[in-house]
Amino acid sequence: MSLIVQKYGGSSVADLELIQGVARRAIAAKNEGHRVVVVLSAMKGETDRLIRLARSASPDPDPRELDSLLSTGEQISTALFAMTCQSLGEKVKSFLGFQAGIITSGPHCRARISSIDPARITTELAKGRMAVVAGFQGIDRGGDVTTLGRGGSDTTAVALAVALGADVCEIYTDVDGIYTTDPNVCADARRMDRICYEEMLELSSLGAKVMEIRSVELAMNYDLPIHVRHAHSPKEGTLICREDPSMEKTPVRGVTHSMNEARITLTRVKDEPGVAARILQVAAKADIVVDMIIQNTSVSEGGLHTDFSFTVPLPDYGRTMGLMGGIVSDLHAESVVGDDQIAKVSIVGVGMRNHAGVAAKMFQALASENINIVMITTSEIKISCIIEKKYAELAVRCLHDSFDLAKGDGEG
Ligand code: ADP
Ligand code: ASP
Ligand code: MG
Repeated sequence: MSLIVQKYGGSSVADLELIQGVARRAIAAKNEGHRVVVVLSAMKGETDRLIRLARSASPDPDPRELDSLLSTGEQISTALFAMTCQSLGEKVKSFLGFQAGIITSGPHCRARISSIDPARITTELAKGRMAVVAGFQGIDRGGDVTTLGRGGSDTTAVALAVALGADVCEIYTDVDGIYTTDPNVCADARRMDRICYEEMLELSSLGAKVMEIRSVELAMNYDLPIHVRHAHSPKEGTLICREDPSMEKTPVRGVTHSMNEARITLTRVKDEPGVAARILQVAAKADIVVDMIIQNTSVSEGGLHTDFSFTVPLPDYGRTMGLMGGIVSDLHAESVVGDDQIAKVSIVGVGMRNHAGVAAKMFQALASENINIVMITTSEIKISCIIEKKYAELAVRCLHDSFDLAKGDGEG
């Protein structure tokens, strides 16, 4: 008898009819003899609605109050799910994050799970009952409700699965697995039977929202298999697991993109030791995460100068521009130039480690569509390019095509 944590995303619990469908599915798993814990997201669109409501109440809502508001989304879906199960004859209880013993640290709206004491959940399981837990939320040491950041219910599910020693964490969503690229962007995208943690981690961190990045990180650290599948289809999905020699050997396994980027350039900064550190310290102090960094040195009148460019998450763009504006004269720079019309496209694959020419092929593919590359970064298993935002989806499709990732090309 295995212990399974099942997480159902917002689109899978969007209305009472869908809730009834997934409730039946969870009950069926229990009737097959498994111990089942269900983690739920808010009903589709609810978190966005609550954010809009908060912004109507205040242009800059207090993060503590925002967490208090946002956590209600999952409170509603879990209570409705439990009532539905009860009406189907199943004895279940729903638990909010704090009742499930989920303790967090870090700032409101971006809290991290620091520990879980799942005593109440294990008590339910010991009684032979299913437990239903609100995703995306916890409580901090001061006793305040916190939320984990967008998509955080995936992390709740994986963290609970780890804490309970579950055999598998099943992520039920509106696609039937992990695809070579977002199937809503590229009609040729192909579902993969398996993908290793490292590749999934890169895809998530580079924009594939199908799995929240911290959930993948956690599963990788504890070697917990994740099965991503469709909430309303019996088909097997994709297993996210440890890399093994039988996995597909192509250098590139996935393409992804992110529209959540902005670029900032300080022009004609003096090229001397300490300048990059000063710029980045200002961002770090403001808790702004800098991603790509590029500097181009040029010799001109007045000595060596450099244009220093970096990217930040789009929501931090305005704040970063303001902060950089404040240090321009200190740094004797010429100006601060910003661009929020950019996107990042990336290719990912552990096979890249042993293949030459992958970058050249990527750049050639983009060039063939006349797409200009503004910035580039690489790691062992990924290459990312910043391009103009309007070409993002075209770039995804042309890269998917160039690396032969389409349907029928290999493991299906
Ligand atoms: P949920 O509400 O269930 O958490 P999400 O909307 O967070 O679901 O994630 C599912 C979506 O992720 C899909 O509808 C799809 O558009 C998107 N997605 C992006 N990249 C991929 C990929 N490589 N494979 C599958 N889905 C992807
Ligand atoms: N409801 C939250 C969100 O929309 C958390 C989640 O769905 O995972 O981001
Ligand atoms: Mg999600």
